Amino acid sequence: MRLGIISALQEEQEGLVEAMQGPYKLIHGMREYVAGRLWEIDAVCVLSRIGKVAAATTATLLVEKFGVTHILFTGVAGAGDAAIKVGDIVVAESLVQHDMDASPLFPRFEVPLTGLSHFASDRQLALDLHDAARFFLETDFIHAIDARERADFGLRAPRVHRGLVGSGDQFVGDREHIQSLGKALPGLLAVEMEGAAVAQVCFELGVSYGVIRTISDNANENAATDFMRFVKSVAARYAFYIVRQFCRQVRSRIQASKDSAGT
Ligand code: SAH
Repeated sequence: MRLGIISALQEEQEGLVEAMQGPYKLIHGMREYVAGRLWEIDAVCVLSRIGKVAAATTATLLVEKFGVTHILFTGVAGAGDAAIKVGDIVVAESLVQHDMDASPLFPRFEVPLTGLSHFASDRQLALDLHDAARFFLETDFIHAIDARERADFGLRAPRVHRGLVGSGDQFVGDREHIQSLGKALPGLLAVEMEGAAVAQVCFELGVSYGVIRTISDNANENAATDFMRFVKSVAARYAFYIVRQFCRQVRSRIQASKDSAGT
C-alpha cells in the first residue's frame, strides 16, 4: 500500500507532514509532495489547493507520478443537513459534483459519458475512517481540542456520519443555496470543493479512495466567520488524530494478514 493524503489547505496538513519519518520533498506542477512513512505506512502528503480542477490534477499526479495505490482526502466542509453540526465528522460513502449540469443532454449531476452522478468510495477505507473517527471522538477529542475552542465553537458531543458528500467550485454560504442542493440531492450530508473530483479520477484510474471531512460551518451566511480559526485549532487536530488512528488500524491489518500467511 502506498497512501496519498490530500488536503486543500495548508493548516489541515501541517501536523501530518511534521509526523512523517524520513520525509523527502519534491516540487512538481506548483505543488509540494512529501513522501515518507506515517505510522509505518508508506505515504505521500500534498496540498491540492482549493477546487475540483486543483484536486483532480493532484490526485492524477499522485497516482501517475508517485505510484500511490490508495488516496485519502481530509479536510473541512459545510453541513448539508440541519442534523449535521459544526464539529461533526462526515465520512463519504459516495460523492457527487453538485455543480455538474449538462441537462438536457444528460441528467442533472451525471458526469457525461460515465453514466454516473454518484461515485462510491472504497468500502474498507470508509469503514476504517469511520472507526478511526469514532475512536478519536471517544478517546482523544477531549484532550486534543482546547476547552476554550470547544466552548466557542459549541462542540458538545460531536458525532460521525456516513453518506453523501457534494463538491462544487463554489463556497456555499447562502441558506437558500444549501437548502435547494439538499432537496435536489437526497441524503446530502456535507458540501465542499474537492472530494467528488478526486472520486472521479480514482474511479477512472481504478484507485481506492476515501474522503473524510470535519464540519466547519453551516454553509449559510455565517459560513466564513472564524473559518480559518476553526481550521487551525479544531480541524487540523481532528485530521492528525484520525489519520494516525487510521494508519495504525491499516498497519495492524497488514501485519495480521502477513502473520496468517506465514503460519
Ligand atoms: N477562507 C479560505 C477559503 C476556504 S475555501 C481561504 O481564504 O483560504 C473552503 C475550503 O473548505 C474548500 O477547500 C472546501 O472544500 C471547504 N469548505 C468548507 N466549508 C465549505 C462550504 N460551506 N462550501 C464549500 N466548501 C467548503
